[in-house]
Amino acid sequence: MRVMEANGAGLTVQITSDPWFPILDKCYPSSIVPGLENFTVNCLFQIGQQRWDPEVVCDLFSPTEAAIILGIPISQSGGDDSWYWLAENNGFYSVRSAYKLLQDQKHHSDIPQASQFWKRMWDLKVPPKTKDLVWRAASNCLATKANLCIKKVLVDNTCPMCGVYAETEVHLLVSCPFAWACWEFSGLSTVGRESPSLLQWLEVSANRVDKEVLGKIVVLCWAIWSARNDLIWQQRVRSVRDVVVFANSSLNQFLKAQGRENIPSLSPLKAGDGSEHWIKSVSGIKLNVDAATFDRDSKHGYGCVVRNLNGDLIFVFAGCNNGKVPAELAEIMGIKEALSWLKCNNYTQAVIESDSLVCVEAIRSDELIAFGFGFIVDECKNMFKSLSNVALFFVKRSANCAAYFVARHSISLAERMFPINSVLMDFMSILMSDCSS
Ligand SMILES: [Zn+2]
Repeated sequence: MRVMEANGAGLTVQITSDPWFPILDKCYPSSIVPGLENFTVNCLFQIGQQRWDPEVVCDLFSPTEAAIILGIPISQSGGDDSWYWLAENNGFYSVRSAYKLLQDQKHHSDIPQASQFWKRMWDLKVPPKTKDLVWRAASNCLATKANLCIKKVLVDNTCPMCGVYAETEVHLLVSCPFAWACWEFSGLSTVGRESPSLLQWLEVSANRVDKEVLGKIVVLCWAIWSARNDLIWQQRVRSVRDVVVFANSSLNQFLKAQGRENIPSLSPLKAGDGSEHWIKSVSGIKLNVDAATFDRDSKHGYGCVVRNLNGDLIFVFAGCNNGKVPAELAEIMGIKEALSWLKCNNYTQAVIESDSLVCVEAIRSDELIAFGFGFIVDECKNMFKSLSNVALFFVKRSANCAAYFVARHSISLAERMFPINSVLMDFMSILMSDCSS
């Protein structure tokens, strides 16, 4: 559920029964005309091509849904269809996003105290694996011996740490003598040892402490669970002190690593990034590229301005496509067009400037991004590899005015027909102002 196709060839995706529609609260188009059952998504492509057929799509779906469909990028390399998880920015499934989605669907359910606890917990700055552990434990989904007995996987449910009581979540992580010694040693034992369930114990604790302490509580739960696994799987005995030290050092390491890479999130800015004013290139031609979205018309476009070492205008081109797309998708498509232009015109030395930090970082980063945005990023990366003397920089919007102007006008310009000999006065004054700074 909640997945969306990142279109390959569209051969395996059923129009009416697969969740290919990229909107979180509905994964199928609702305006489906009868008779589309058993048809796959590639029936909506132009014949023999890897692109949507706007006429067919507009005939079959409501204007709003047609705009969304036309905005779904299709891989030009064909290949297999793939799916991505819509509730997470990078397209990969995570327990956290699934949980949040389920919580959202419960319409702020009947247990306000519990949901407040969850909200606080997911917002904590602690390693995600520790939150996942606490979430599973407090939802009674941990593979404790008591739970495995319920599922008839095991017959013995005795706690491995004390050898006396049944290993339930609340026993193992709180009331077991070993666990309780950890809580006391760490100074985190703010509430009593006995509680009907782990969730209730966590809720009461959370109400008494601030978020820093709550973070330590979550990490210590995880450390106790790790000590239990070390004993069961590796016959390694951890002391109370070891467990508490391990919890503290894990949290400190995580916080240190977070502090190092605040913003930008994916990779550090390079020298040359962040210009506020346009400056002439010192190596090869310079391409400024920008994108615009036209929500009222359900279109998106890009503009690219090419100047030589003297700052003279060499070429201007723009394009406009159907479909409602997020801003970063429009931006990355613009960058791809700039790269294609360089390739087609055999330019080997050039600088590309974009004011989209997200796109610049995505192209520089090694991190995988699963959905539509991601495969256009990959196409850009491949083109950069074949254009070895082409560099990409991030600049401020104020240094990208010319491209912004062209992108804003892309809706009224025919593709690549921007007149270079008789440029608009407004555009001319931007070019002159760029060169004077
Ligand atoms: Zn025990």
